[in-house]
Amino acid sequence: MSDAGERRDRVHVRAPGKINLFLGVGPLDGDGYHALSTVFQAVSLYEDVIATPSDDFSLAVTGVADPSTVPLDDRNLAMRAAKVLAAATGHDGGVHLEIRKSVPVAGGMGGGSADAAAALVACNELWRTGLGHDRLHELGARLGADVPFALSGGTAVGTGRGDVLTPALARGRYEWVLIPDDEGLSTPAVYRAYDVVRAENGPAFYAGREEIDPFEVPPSFFQALLTGEPEELAGCLRNQLEAGSFRLRPELEETIDREVGGAVLAGIVSGSGPTIALLCEDAPTADRTAERLRARGRAALRAHGPVRGAHVISAAEQR
Ligand code: ATP
Repeated sequence: MSDAGERRDRVHVRAPGKINLFLGVGPLDGDGYHALSTVFQAVSLYEDVIATPSDDFSLAVTGVADPSTVPLDDRNLAMRAAKVLAAATGHDGGVHLEIRKSVPVAGGMGGGSADAAAALVACNELWRTGLGHDRLHELGARLGADVPFALSGGTAVGTGRGDVLTPALARGRYEWVLIPDDEGLSTPAVYRAYDVVRAENGPAFYAGREEIDPFEVPPSFFQALLTGEPEELAGCLRNQLEAGSFRLRPELEETIDREVGGAVLAGIVSGSGPTIALLCEDAPTADRTAERLRARGRAALRAHGPVRGAHVISAAEQR
């Protein structure tokens, strides 16, 4: 048991990346944001954040091929999360955050949001500021629309800007192969490209396939999640924002068309991309698919979902 004289010396928190299983994009609101209807699934590509006490705020990042892609100052979402928590709780110390990244940077999988969620949980524990889930969720939503989901994890429906969450009833475990791209895509640029496609084709356009209602996740989607069968979910995956990613990077569509077939049940761009998520029939199929891609010189990552949201792995104490 802890007592008042104990303090945390080192807190290690893990938070997951996400795939949008469904993403319907509504019109721009007055603030320049799109209203979304989305279904998130948290997957087993994790960001690890280790928080240690410090008088000021500092950051170190490992696990990225090109360190220049991740800011180390106040533009970093984890740094902002720590400062937002300090301001909200009146905590007057700082923190050193070490971020070990596994989620592709600017890949459409919410890596920065996972870092922010992990930093909130880690600092709350390190500083013993004692905020509950709802308060952390509220602070997370201020940092970015995907941060609340990185806190909750699992499978959830997101509305508003994606930050108003309702847990979805989902059975089963889904096996994914993720194909990252060496070069990330800027989320605002993908939305701008999507706006052009939308202006040309109308709000129900879905990347050249059948039309979808961007305001509603269809009931068949939830039925598929309840079966726990990857074949059922494969038929329901939809990402309307893909049209923007395809416009900027046509080879993404070509890769999906080439890789999907047989036991590779479906392929979709994750969020704003450019990471491609392939849903496979089972784990052996997914392992083989990843190996096949690597043999051809492509990067391929394995993951399964759903997994839990940001959680403490260890918290060391010192009297
Ligand atoms: P989005 O949440 O916008 O869809 P994403 O998942 O595609 O983003 P992220 O890896 O979260 O991509 O990063 C997007 C950009 O945010 C990066 O290019 C980087 O400049 C900036 N960024 C801020 N904080 C972080 C962080 N902790 N890790 C990675 N990038 C960060």
